[in-house]
Amino acid sequence: MNQIGAETILHAVHGGQALLGLVGAPQASMDGRITETHPRSGCASAPRSETRNRTLRIGDAPATPPFPTPGENVAQIGAENLLHAAILDWFTSLDQTARADPFVFEQGLAEYAASPRSRPFLKIQDGCGNACTYCAVTIARGPSVSLDKTAVLERLRSLEDAGFSEAVLTGVNICRYPDLAGLIVYLLENTDRIRLRLSSLEPDAVDDRLLQAVSLPRVRPHFHLSVQSGSDAVLARMGRRYGAVAVERAFAGLRAVKDDPFLAGDIITGFPGETEADFAATYTLCEKAAFAWIHAFPFSPRPGTAAAKMRPPVPQREAVARAERLRLLAQAGHAAYEKRWEGRTREAVIERYESGDETVSVVTENYLKRTLPREQICDKRPGAAIQIVV
Ligand code: SF4
Repeated sequence: MNQIGAETILHAVHGGQALLGLVGAPQASMDGRITETHPRSGCASAPRSETRNRTLRIGDAPATPPFPTPGENVAQIGAENLLHAAILDWFTSLDQTARADPFVFEQGLAEYAASPRSRPFLKIQDGCGNACTYCAVTIARGPSVSLDKTAVLERLRSLEDAGFSEAVLTGVNICRYPDLAGLIVYLLENTDRIRLRLSSLEPDAVDDRLLQAVSLPRVRPHFHLSVQSGSDAVLARMGRRYGAVAVERAFAGLRAVKDDPFLAGDIITGFPGETEADFAATYTLCEKAAFAWIHAFPFSPRPGTAAAKMRPPVPQREAVARAERLRLLAQAGHAAYEKRWEGRTREAVIERYESGDETVSVVTENYLKRTLPREQICDKRPGAAIQIVV
């Protein structure tokens, strides 16, 4: 699982019923252990008796020790792009009472200060009423609810005052926020320095108003589109509210308002009834998009969803092979993007100290990862911004 995947997990669960921190390196191993701190105990440094370790396995790779077999404190989900849904379902099943306030933030700053996180996730929305046929969010989380913009601003200001140089606006589907474009403008007009990065966008939500909002300099040039397919027929069966033309319009629009932004896309391969021609349309769309990354996952049915009963199923081997073709395209797209930015100066956020504090990992505004010698950052702390030559 890559870093965006790890972040998907974090943004999906952070702000829910528990403070969570990923322990270990799930992005490298495809497995991750989540240390949960019960909300009553507040933060990750809480006494041991108040924390529970739960293991989350992602992907099709066989489990390896020391991960226990699935059970009460273990969840295993398929290599699908609905990580958030699966995780939220799992936590819901473990502790329903914790959903009372999906926007828990009371100890937000203390949590961030106590954790190694450098780019705090600010949850602005929860649930989703779109009812896509493959997604369990509507079943598990109910319709969309949003945090009032004044509360979002208050939280963002507190993060800015604490010295963070950027915050990531997250939610189950932030495009369901009543006026996302208006929120972005409002937040930027009422803060001084902090930058905003957006989590996944629905292609049909990328309209002129949103483009105008994200064109503002303090919005990071990094966008993640929930594309899912390039075939109009498959998109219709998925219950998506757009066609391939809207996807093309979205990435063209984002490129028009930002200087060569990092564009990533989610794709599901092997959705029931997906023909080779449907997949070819998806592949062609991804080529045209020249994504800097593609999250391609074979379809994995979610119990209780309409898609779980759809026919005909695509053989798993074929779905995996199609995802693999997209992963190769993603790697080529990423290499080309890296090359285009080589030698250019960009703002970056310090993520963490590594190698006995001798080196520092940073992420640029356009989502390129670099490791720098410590002396290059003048002892600034994680969360601070610096200029680097990419
Ligand atoms: S837009 Fe569709 S896939 Fe995304 S959360 Fe809503 S129902 Fe699920």
